[in-house]
Amino acid sequence: MAFKYVQQLPTPQEIREEYPLPEELKTLKQKRDKEISDIITGKDDRFLVIIGPCSADNENAVCEYVSRLSRVNERVKDRLLLVPRIYTNKPRTTGSGYKGITSQPDPEGKTDFRAGLVAMRRMQIHAIEVSGLTAADEMLYPDNWGYVEDILSYVAIGARSVEDQQHRLTVSGFDVASGMKNPTSGDFGVMLNSVYAAQHPHSFTYRGYEVHTDGNPLAHCVLRGATNKHGANTPNYHYEDIMRLIHMYQEMDLVYPACVIDTNHSNSNKEYFQQIRIAKEVLHNRHVNAEIRHIVKGLMIESYLEEGCQKIGEGVYGKSITDPCLGWADTERLIYDIAETV
Ligand code: PEP
Ligand code: MN
Repeated sequence: MAFKYVQQLPTPQEIREEYPLPEELKTLKQKRDKEISDIITGKDDRFLVIIGPCSADNENAVCEYVSRLSRVNERVKDRLLLVPRIYTNKPRTTGSGYKGITSQPDPEGKTDFRAGLVAMRRMQIHAIEVSGLTAADEMLYPDNWGYVEDILSYVAIGARSVEDQQHRLTVSGFDVASGMKNPTSGDFGVMLNSVYAAQHPHSFTYRGYEVHTDGNPLAHCVLRGATNKHGANTPNYHYEDIMRLIHMYQEMDLVYPACVIDTNHSNSNKEYFQQIRIAKEVLHNRHVNAEIRHIVKGLMIESYLEEGCQKIGEGVYGKSITDPCLGWADTERLIYDIAETV
């Protein structure tokens, strides 16, 4: 047999029963989901800042990060809505490398999805408990939605998955804001088609069931820059890019045109420090053009306790083992700057 069946995994229901979200946090999540939804639909004019490490590889470091974020949140909450990035499944360009806490609870250890699901769920719930902030994650494996549907307030579909039918149809059944990234090629048409698919009802197969979804009106675009045919990065956070997105949105039958700008990845060419300048440029463009102000609902920023990144095994606490991130001091300053100038 080409597949070796290593172990049977608990069902989403089993995991949720074993690690339930405490009752008082259920109300908090509903409140935050509604606030994020109101930003996407334009009822709330606060600005979304989705911020945190590229990968949430360590529960203690992530919980320390979100506790700090929670203190900052107290000072900016009338202007900004902070959503921690707690990314527990990582897409890998060649398929090799660290794939997130859900597959490897210990980044230096072996793959163990059963232990990983538990570690992921425990970390996500612990992070809400210490910060009062519900998080964003990437839905790399659509089948895994049931493990997190009661705890996440924002979901992203990554650049490498956004053209895939199962990802698109699964998002059509999510009840939280869902950001569809532009593909690595940068084609806005692919991204908008994925928003279209996600906003409409579908029937399909899911975890051994035939299911029906109603469509997710909160599906929107995330601009993360692109790579051209020569392998060079081409940013897409500039004025002209956003104007083009506005015009392309108008050509399609979509509700709540919205986008979030990812300041890292191919927008910064992973020069993490450029995220500060990119964030400020986006805010400037929102000031000079009312249409841009209307469509750009937020930023996605990669940040952790320590700046930059390290190789697995180097062991620096709170330093990214995937994409390079802003460090805490710059992060804090940037959030206050965004709150002041938004
Ligand atoms: C990420 O958000 O860390 C990520 C991998 O993004 P993208 O899908 O845009 O490459
Ligand atoms: Mn990243």
